[in-house]
Amino acid sequence: MKTRTVSKMIRGKRVTDGAGVRLVRSLGTEGLEQLDPFLMLDEFRSDDPGDYIAGFPDHPHRGFETVTYMLAGLMEHADNHGNSGTLRGGGVQWMTAGRGIVHSEMPKQENSLIWGFQLWINLPAANKMMTPRYQNIEPEDVPLVKRGDGALVRVIAGVADGATGPVRGVITAPLYLDVTLPPRGVYEHELPQTHSAFTYLFQGDAEVGGIAVKQTALAAFGDDGDGVRITAGPEGARFLLLAAKKLNEPVARYGPFVMNTRDELQQAFEDYRTGNF
Ligand code: FE
Repeated sequence: MKTRTVSKMIRGKRVTDGAGVRLVRSLGTEGLEQLDPFLMLDEFRSDDPGDYIAGFPDHPHRGFETVTYMLAGLMEHADNHGNSGTLRGGGVQWMTAGRGIVHSEMPKQENSLIWGFQLWINLPAANKMMTPRYQNIEPEDVPLVKRGDGALVRVIAGVADGATGPVRGVITAPLYLDVTLPPRGVYEHELPQTHSAFTYLFQGDAEVGGIAVKQTALAAFGDDGDGVRITAGPEGARFLLLAAKKLNEPVARYGPFVMNTRDELQQAFEDYRTGNF
């Protein structure tokens, strides 16, 4: 396997979003605005309710998918089509916003740790206006592979270490893994040329493509190989590994709307304003 080099390495940035939730944003900042088809990655992690209790009251989305992966705590979700549910530690919600939803994402707890990630993945032009769709995955339905070398691999989407993730039928054919490596452990994964890939380190430290990465670092891989390799440091490492098929389409983006042209963005605002989501 020829391993891909790192094309860009950025550190997560502290931002406030929703009604006042403190989080760390890596992808989707000036450091790296997007990595086709990935648009944004946030990590929220706090045991101080002041950092999260305000949540994300009603807001719209159109033209892409939002993926929430919880490590700890409870998050309640409700939308304008009557869907609702509670996400708990280890669970995943893969929401295809398509032509539009208005929803809220609120912590269902008043104290203790809440920890998780939200990823945004773009949809191709042909699917931006599709009917909204959910895949709600319970924690026990995410395969956990315990390898002989001590590595733990949670497979949310795609295939890795003999396990297939529960998220199915996503247009960009994503790989979404949560990998824990023991000290000096090595993780390798083959990827097709069609796919962009990145890793986000959230515990310990690691080396990727000859570059040392620390907590909240996001390393985007180049297209110069047929796989990736991540090597844990002396403390071990835990990271997300993401890959998905590039769309190679123009992106017109404003806040919660991600379309191909400015006219389509205008239309999204108009449809939201007139209650047509
Ligand atoms: Fe949302």
